[in-house]
Amino acid sequence: MNYRHAFHAGSFADVIKHIVLVRMLTYLQEKQAPFRVIDTHAGAGIYDLTSSEAQRGGEWLTGIARLMQARLSDKALPLIGPYLDIVRAFNPRGELKTYPGSPLIARALLRPQDRLTACELEPGARKQLIDALRRDAQARVVDLDGWMALPAFVPPNERRGLVLIDPPFEAKDEFERLASAFTEAHAKWPTGAYLLWYPVKSRRATDDLARSVATATASSRPAGKCLRLEFSVAPQESDAGLVSTGLLIVNPPWTLANELKIILPELEKPLGQGGAARFRLETPKP
Ligand code: SAM
Repeated sequence: MNYRHAFHAGSFADVIKHIVLVRMLTYLQEKQAPFRVIDTHAGAGIYDLTSSEAQRGGEWLTGIARLMQARLSDKALPLIGPYLDIVRAFNPRGELKTYPGSPLIARALLRPQDRLTACELEPGARKQLIDALRRDAQARVVDLDGWMALPAFVPPNERRGLVLIDPPFEAKDEFERLASAFTEAHAKWPTGAYLLWYPVKSRRATDDLARSVATATASSRPAGKCLRLEFSVAPQESDAGLVSTGLLIVNPPWTLANELKIILPELEKPLGQGGAARFRLETPKP
């Protein structure tokens, strides 16, 4: 395992993923009943943006740093603001130096009755995550392969909640693995909300993944709903790094599609690289 999220923390892809995560968890908070968050590929949880990795990658400079400077409209501010407030809480002196990863963002939105289960396989990242969540009775960090743990962890006792599947895409078969892990988990827990992240590099791989997820979702009882969101900060060049990020959102809050129609246009300018960014938001077909 060579992947280190420290190089990418706070990138445009993190910003999009984490804004959606916050919207979904904020929606789950609307009912008093407890919920569970399962983060299958959790990462270190907290990232020092002054570290050599973050400086070398520099991706946060065109991600969270740009968004923090952006002037948001009155319509977008209440939707993006809760995410920015969480990031600000990790930077109490005002200067952006720390970025929270998905388990710490989720933790910030747990009420006393809610729980978080986070899997992280890489020992260094896992130790950092354990340290960040030390003595936290509501959060559990497990030393398990997220792919193996996922079907065992669903449905959670709470019967409400969200699964984030955010693998590093190091292995060649990770698109297929994501599709089959989701299908297995969803068959066991069709009413859970799922947020799947993927890099947009090969159109065929991303279309196949979206079709598999849409097929599993549509054929479940009760049939679920699915949204596909892709956000590109620059045109794809064959030798460029990641310029386009994707999310599949299963059983989204009914409010989410309309919220995203307000949020995403506001991100086009601040997150664009050499021009405005572009997005697509659609319901994938089985
Ligand atoms: N979800 C995090 C966030 O949004 O802040 C970022 C996660 S990063 C993309 C993927 C993480 O998965 C890495 O920290 C990597 O060490 C870990 N990882 C890789 N393979 C794994 C596996 N099979 N099970 C659990 N964690 C794994």
